[in-house]
Amino acid sequence: MDATLKGLKPEVLWRHFDELRKIPRCSKHEEKARAYVIGVARSLKLPFEEDAAGNVLVRKPAAKGHEKAPTVVLQGHLDIVCEKNSDVVHDFSKDPVELDLRGDLLHAKGTTLGADNGIGVATALAILEAKDLAHGPIEALFTVDEETGLTGAFQLKAGVLKGRLMLNLDSEDMGIVTIGCAGGGGTMIALPVTSAGLPEGALGARVTVKGLRGGHSGVDIHEYRANAVKLLVRLLWSTAKAHDLAIVDLSGGDKHNAIPREAVAVVALDGAALDALKTLAREHQEADLSEFGGRDPGIKVSVEETGSASGEALDAASSRRALHLLEGLPHGVEKFSHDIPGLVETSTNLASVRVAGGNLWVNMSTRSSIAPALEALRARIEAIAVLAGARVEQAEAYPGWKPDVTSPLLGVAKAVHKDLYGSEPKVEAIHAGLETGIVGVKFPGMDMISIGPTLKNPHSPDEYVDVRTVEQFWRWTVGLLERIAKKGVPGR
Ligand SMILES: [Zn+2]
Repeated sequence: MDATLKGLKPEVLWRHFDELRKIPRCSKHEEKARAYVIGVARSLKLPFEEDAAGNVLVRKPAAKGHEKAPTVVLQGHLDIVCEKNSDVVHDFSKDPVELDLRGDLLHAKGTTLGADNGIGVATALAILEAKDLAHGPIEALFTVDEETGLTGAFQLKAGVLKGRLMLNLDSEDMGIVTIGCAGGGGTMIALPVTSAGLPEGALGARVTVKGLRGGHSGVDIHEYRANAVKLLVRLLWSTAKAHDLAIVDLSGGDKHNAIPREAVAVVALDGAALDALKTLAREHQEADLSEFGGRDPGIKVSVEETGSASGEALDAASSRRALHLLEGLPHGVEKFSHDIPGLVETSTNLASVRVAGGNLWVNMSTRSSIAPALEALRARIEAIAVLAGARVEQAEAYPGWKPDVTSPLLGVAKAVHKDLYGSEPKVEAIHAGLETGIVGVKFPGMDMISIGPTLKNPHSPDEYVDVRTVEQFWRWTVGLLERIAKKGVPGR
């Protein structure tokens, strides 16, 4: 074992983590990690199955005397996000992750560590290997390609899991139990636009909104940060109310799961309108800062004159419809949960806008932990788009996981945590996707919780795990298995 990990407890868990960190396993390239898990199953003479997607399921019979206990599913994902600092030489397709233990915090040297979800996987492997634990039958499920769209979980075969109690080992805070996540679905809107030649003497301007923080459209949406597209449209709208304004180009936002940080419009207008636009831009920047500056102190609204404009722009009707559509579409939190204080239940992100091929394209990304609420908001988006004369495409949504504060498994997890650490864990839900959402739909009646050690900055080279919490997490997990083996799960 790497000298860095010597002396860390539990030793078996760290030995498996040490092996995993040497195995290339970026999302969609998990072959070697899969082979490692199968190797462990073979050496322990445990039955395993592999599906077409590459997910591996290993079954471990109950420890002696606990054959009648309910089956528990342990689940983690094999893939990691492969990110490195630009000044680091590292080939994720073959180089092992180099470790750097600073006090109790285990980092990698300039790359992602892969503790997400390497610790979860190593925990399940250590439980498969353990000879001295009390536990009922175990199904250890190792999924692939979690990080780029949960595609491994999506391809799980209905019926493959017999157990109806599941510990997902992919959470990031020791002492917190996650009991819910959001589902999500996108909407692509195409508003047909027509162009017309610009009048003689038209002037051009580039209008920019930038300096916003943006962030993740799930986990940061509760902060009510500004959306650059929305701010830009507000400015164009108030200008267009009193003046003719032709949109030559309009763009903003990028990834569906990122709040737009920047948006730009190229417009054509006459001299009086340009003066009005410049004045309004100053007023809007001030108003935007007074509304959003607490979270977005860097908002900058600018108008750059580009001289005389010629050629084509969206015609007056198309420009107006584009602004009406973008002003009408929702962005942000729709509703907070009644059950879990502070949890965003439903939200939508106006993620990006572009003009191309005779259409104004708008991409919307909607999330909710309640499927009908998700569909209701998507229906509203569709209705607004249709009223504006646009076509709408909505891919099938991925399912969320509705928090169940009365979950019997949660009850056991709380009790075991209290016995071990003197207090009950915090109970939370997140407004982003987890594999549990899909598992819950594929395996009806599955009682699930998600736990893990304290892990910070996942998906970035700053990722680290607190090694003390790994041992705490281990004791909590095996304590749970033991309690379930000996006393079952009251209420089920
Ligand atoms: Zn993960």
